[in-house]
Amino acid sequence: MNRPCAIALAEPYAAAKAAATPTFGRCAFYRVSLPNYTYDILILGAGPAGTAAALALHGHGLRVALVDKACFPRDKVCGDAIPGPTLTAIRRLSEAWYQELRTVQPQASAAASRLFGPAGQELLIQWKKPTFNSPRQQFDDQLLQLVRRHTATTILEGYAVRDVHTSEQGVQLLSADASQPPLTAQLLLACDGANSVAVRKVLPRPLDRNYHCAAVRAYYTGLIGTDAHTSEFYFLRDYPAGYCWVFPVGEGVYNVGFGLLSAEVAARRVDMKQALRQLLREHPQLAPRFAAAQPLTEITGFGLPLAGRKLPLAGSRCLLAGDAASLIDPLQGHGIDKAVISGILAAEQAIRCFQQQNFSLAYLQNYERAVHQRLGRRLQRSYRLMQLLAAWPALLRLGFWVAQRRPFQHWLIRLIG
Ligand SMILES: Cc1cc2nc3c(=O)[nH]c(=O)nc-3n(C[C@H](O)[C@H](O)[C@H](O)COP(=O)(O)OP(=O)(O)OC[C@H]3O[C@@H](n4cnc5c(N)ncnc54)[C@H](O)[C@@H]3O)c2cc1C
Repeated sequence: MNRPCAIALAEPYAAAKAAATPTFGRCAFYRVSLPNYTYDILILGAGPAGTAAALALHGHGLRVALVDKACFPRDKVCGDAIPGPTLTAIRRLSEAWYQELRTVQPQASAAASRLFGPAGQELLIQWKKPTFNSPRQQFDDQLLQLVRRHTATTILEGYAVRDVHTSEQGVQLLSADASQPPLTAQLLLACDGANSVAVRKVLPRPLDRNYHCAAVRAYYTGLIGTDAHTSEFYFLRDYPAGYCWVFPVGEGVYNVGFGLLSAEVAARRVDMKQALRQLLREHPQLAPRFAAAQPLTEITGFGLPLAGRKLPLAGSRCLLAGDAASLIDPLQGHGIDKAVISGILAAEQAIRCFQQQNFSLAYLQNYERAVHQRLGRRLQRSYRLMQLLAAWPALLRLGFWVAQRRPFQHWLIRLIG
């Protein structure tokens, strides 16, 4: 059951109010109050990027606040496949935190993936290092519980940020609720996801539909012929720049979705919800699976900002991480691991900034280089491969044919991760 937000907010807001100087309009408040920072670091967004950043900042004596508009546990539209590098990154921070995260319930081990080709070909891949699927409502809450239990982070739920001001002196967040006081800090880690207000205000960029995916998903039960530990991917003749997925998430429930490059959605005016319903009704392999299935939720849509190009990730007193930094793998649609890894890299840069007392843009840009070094090459390769497959659907058929020959399977597994 959701905890009431007001309880989580009362104490820190009282402190923030006490610290705030009187205001005579937004700009005046900004100039007057910035030297009295409420916090050293504000983390905006308590998804995987924000919680990982908070965990990585633990033990450095910094006053950190983690701010989210939602009250947890909250849903997040996702495929719920938790990529292995997510767990590896948390394990590097602490073995105990990793063990705690692994206990999240419900979950389904993702021991194998079954790939269905556009011409009905089938390929079963057994993973050597299996990970798991878990609904984001529970998984993200488990991450936040780690922050709550093991760090001194101030967690502010139910604080929807409407505006972000940054300058050479610091950063200020303004709430959409006028009764909530502004928050100030020396540094902002913007982890507020695909529709980031921080990106809009600090590092605005136009939407490029060639680097963006639209996706819809719903939960179903009562599927026929699926395996509780096998994630299924359907590559579609009619939509070469996308795929459909059926992922078990435990307790007989399946996360079912469809994602497609936004450029194609716009060009062909695809109604994504309608397209998913039609696939479940008519696709030769999906239809029998869903003959007696019951939907547990509505079909809901959300965007995926894809990686594959170099974007600025550092602005004045601000670092972007996770979806706010457009880091989703264009081939697999995985973004949770990139969010956690970039959140940790942002925290490490923040620690260096405080150690050196250097908050200059040039110094913050070291973070940008660290992200590109750690993730850039692989993500750019994924983007090129995704483009190739979308432009030349015959390549996918060839890929299935080749991958069905045993010696090539190892190569394919490495390629798609
Ligand atoms: C349909 C779909 C399927 C996907 N499937 C997978 C998958 O199976 N595996 C995978 O690895 N990735 C998947 N992804 C990608 C994955 O969901 C994201 O990459 C991941 O959630 C990014 O984490 P994040 O912390 O950057 O952002 P988020 O998880 O989006 O968290 C951002 C947080 O910021 C908060 N916030 C936003 N705006 C404000 C504001 N103004 N004020 C205060 N708080 C705010 C939100 O409430 C939220 O809690 C999928 C995405 C979609 C859309």
